[in-house]
Amino acid sequence: MVTVINSDYCKGCNLCVVTCPVKVYKEGDKPSSRGYFVPKIVNVEKCMDYKRKKGEKKKCELCVLVCPDQAISWSNE
Ligand code: SF4
Ligand code: SF4
Repeated sequence: MVTVINSDYCKGCNLCVVTCPVKVYKEGDKPSSRGYFVPKIVNVEKCMDYKRKKGEKKKCELCVLVCPDQAISWSNE
């Protein structure tokens, strides 16, 4: 599983950027259709849940929990 950001919900607060312990997200540089700078997913292979799928036993979900707009969800690769 990997995380995805729904740009229809994201308001570019960057809480996910500062919260992710392994820097999966980076601040966005282009405005969405709503005018918000949606973060980019730049290091998905570092995500703890992605690694869990590969055999490690780490579990995180901090970004999903911290997003105030429920813009982050899980998706199959
Ligand atoms: S925490 Fe949610 S609303 Fe804030 S930038 Fe990340 S995805 Fe967007
Ligand atoms: S689940 Fe954890 S490691 Fe993975 S992107 Fe979210 S905050 Fe980062």
